[in-house]
Amino acid sequence: MNAYIASVIENVKARHANEPEFVQTVEEVLSSLEPVVAKHPEYEKVDLLSRMVEPERMFTFRVCWMADDGTWHTNIGYRCQFNGAIGPYKGGLRFQKNVYPGIIKFLGFEQVFKNSLTGLPIGGGKGGSDFDPAGKSDAEIMRFCQSFMQALYRYIGPDVDVPAGDMGVGAREIGYLYGEYRRLKGAFENGVLTGKGFSYGGSLIRPEATGFGAVYYLENVLKHEGESIQGKTIACAGFGNVTWGICKKAAELGAKVVTLSGPDGYIYDPDGVVTPEKIAYLVEMRGSGRNRVQDYAEKFSVEFHAGEKPWGVKADVIMPSAMQNDVHMEQAKQIAANGVKYYIEVANMPTTNDALRFLMEQPGMIVAPSKAVNAGGVATSALEMAQNSERLVWTEEEVDKQLHQIMDTIYNMSVSAAEQYGLGYNLVAGANIAGFQRVADAMMAQGVF
Ligand code: GLU
Repeated sequence: MNAYIASVIENVKARHANEPEFVQTVEEVLSSLEPVVAKHPEYEKVDLLSRMVEPERMFTFRVCWMADDGTWHTNIGYRCQFNGAIGPYKGGLRFQKNVYPGIIKFLGFEQVFKNSLTGLPIGGGKGGSDFDPAGKSDAEIMRFCQSFMQALYRYIGPDVDVPAGDMGVGAREIGYLYGEYRRLKGAFENGVLTGKGFSYGGSLIRPEATGFGAVYYLENVLKHEGESIQGKTIACAGFGNVTWGICKKAAELGAKVVTLSGPDGYIYDPDGVVTPEKIAYLVEMRGSGRNRVQDYAEKFSVEFHAGEKPWGVKADVIMPSAMQNDVHMEQAKQIAANGVKYYIEVANMPTTNDALRFLMEQPGMIVAPSKAVNAGGVATSALEMAQNSERLVWTEEEVDKQLHQIMDTIYNMSVSAAEQYGLGYNLVAGANIAGFQRVADAMMAQGVF
């Protein structure tokens, strides 16, 4: 490994010893940049990489809220403004009880590269809270979101930092967050948040965008192999917003998602999650707050495997679309043994680094990285920001057309970045390099700080 890259990684390991997820993503990304650093000695000269791995700023804040029974609770809120070189910080908020600085930092770092790949003017950020939305009433969620925004509103804005949803934060939470922001600011600055409801500035197609974008990306990969998506079986995980969008678009294009998963296990539906009734039921399951996928198995009389992950199922395409580190070495071996050809990451960092390397080394297997595959979500958020600043509403066709073009461009840019550095057809390294290049150019141009 290049000595400069190795030294930056060592520093990150020493500084963030208690944040393994952040160390993991830094190692994964920086190790792809060897040929770039070799070709551009000027980066080492100004120690660019050390600045890339350090957030511009990150802060915590206290969030107090009252439960319905009158008891008071205190959670920690976070916002990490990782890199603003190419645009206002942009990235979601995650509300989940396991949230701690290492999760926010890893997501923020990934977001910098992902947002750069979209080609749109958005920097990278992330935030959230260790608040656990499971089992909370609507009124509790509202009070929590209001309190969260009271603490955050001074530090964000349409040209400063634009949060959105992530796990545990959907349209309902964004609505409460925006309501409180508007009340505090006394202005209708709706470009401050994305993923809004349509009635107050949300974009058409935003709810579907991450899933649709992932399928558009997959189509590019299949085309490269001379194959079509028609008739393909896809194993997915999760049953949230992203998986819902994949099911919908896959069904429309004649493919079928055959697995879904939840904290309770996974379901196998050999006919596919393809009918409008089944697809709509995912939304109902999510809205119920029960957070179990067994409900699907009961409703549609399909297999349910308690406590298991779906990665042993034989499918043409694997799309880990639930959460980070879902696929470890053990599952990766199973996937390879099943002769799967397409491993298309969707969730942020769903694969451990050793499993990812193993899968990439399998002859004939094509691996695509989440930061490219799931970028359609944040890209459509940037389209939402554009509509808000223009005070216009674009049609569904217009947004979908732009999303499709952006995904094609992300794919093509990744392919050519890897080729340019002599790495062949390497979608993982290509995405890291292409994402890096744009941010690096902007940082070099703006001087050292
Ligand atoms: N949380 C999503 C992501 O990981 C969306 C972020 C956004 O729309 O700003 O990219």
